[in-house]
Amino acid sequence: SSQLMAGKRGLIMGLANDKSIAWGIAKACAEAGAELAFSYQGDALRKRVDPLAAQLGSDTVLPCDVGDEASIDALFAAIKEKWGALDFVVHAIGFSDKNELRGRYVDTSRANFTMTMDISVYSFTAVAKRAEKLMQPGGSMLTLTYYGAEQVMPHYNVMGVAKAALEASVKYLAEDLGKDGIRVNAISAGPIKTLAASGIGDFRYIMKWNEYNSPLRRNVTTDDVGKSALYLLSDLASGVTGENLHVDAGYHVVGMKAVDAPDI
Ligand code: NAD
Repeated sequence: SSQLMAGKRGLIMGLANDKSIAWGIAKACAEAGAELAFSYQGDALRKRVDPLAAQLGSDTVLPCDVGDEASIDALFAAIKEKWGALDFVVHAIGFSDKNELRGRYVDTSRANFTMTMDISVYSFTAVAKRAEKLMQPGGSMLTLTYYGAEQVMPHYNVMGVAKAALEASVKYLAEDLGKDGIRVNAISAGPIKTLAASGIGDFRYIMKWNEYNSPLRRNVTTDDVGKSALYLLSDLASGVTGENLHVDAGYHVVGMKAVDAPDI
C-alpha cells in the first residue's frame, strides 16, 4: 500500500510536536505517498513544525488560528494559490482551559464553555466550509474525538460536551458534503500522552485504567491512529462517511472492569 496516497495532497492541522496525533497521521500519509501541507497555531510552534514537515518532504508550513475567521481564510487562500485543489484535510485541534478539565462539569464557566465549543467544535465546520471548495469527489475530511463524548470520563467535563457536538457535526457535514462525493469522518482515539492531554486531570490514571481494561490490554499509539486515519483518508474507505471509528484498543465495548486488572 506504499502508493495508496500517491498524487493526493492533504492539509494537516494541529501538529504541535512529535507526540501529536497529527504527527502519527502525517507520517502514515507521507509514507503512503501523499504530499502534505501543515498549519500551526502561533509563532512559538513554527520552529517545531518546520523540521517535522521537512522530515516528510514538505516545505508548506502555514499559520492558522482557528479562532479567527480571517486566519482560516488566509490559510485556504494560500493552499488554493499553491495547489489549486485539495484531496484531504485532517483537523487535530482542541482546546479548553485546563482549570476546567478537573473538578465538576457543573462548575464550567460560560466563557470557557463558549471558547471550548468555538475552538474544538465550530472550527471543524469552518474548515470544512473552506476545504469543500477545493475538493473533488473522493475528497476526505477527518477530525479527532474521544470517548468522553459518549460516556462520562473523569475530568473530561466541558471537553466531553464539546466532543459530543463535534461528533454530531461530523454527521451533519457528511450529509451536506456527501452530495459532492466528499466524505467526513472522525476517529475516537484512546488516551495518548500529548501536550493537549497533559492538561487533563489524573491523565496517568486514565491511561493505566485503559491499559488494564481494554480488550487489547494496552494503550494505542499515534502510529495506531495514523494507520486508521490513512484508511479513512484514502480510497479504501470510499463507502464510509459520517463514521466515528474507535481506535482505542477496543475500550469502548467494555462494560466492566477486567477480572485480571490490577488495583490502581
Ligand atoms: P496536541 O497538543 O499535540 O495537539 C492539539 C493541537 O491543537 C495543537 O497543535 C494546538 O496548536 C492546536 N490548537 C489549539 N488551539 C488552536 C487554535 N485556536 N488554532 C489552531 N490550532 C489550535 O494534542 P493531541 O492530543 O494530538 O490533540 C489532537 C486532537 O486529538 C484534539 O482534538 C484532541 O482533543 C484529540 N484527542 C486526543 C486524545 C489524547 O488522549 N491525546 C484522545 C482523543 C482525541
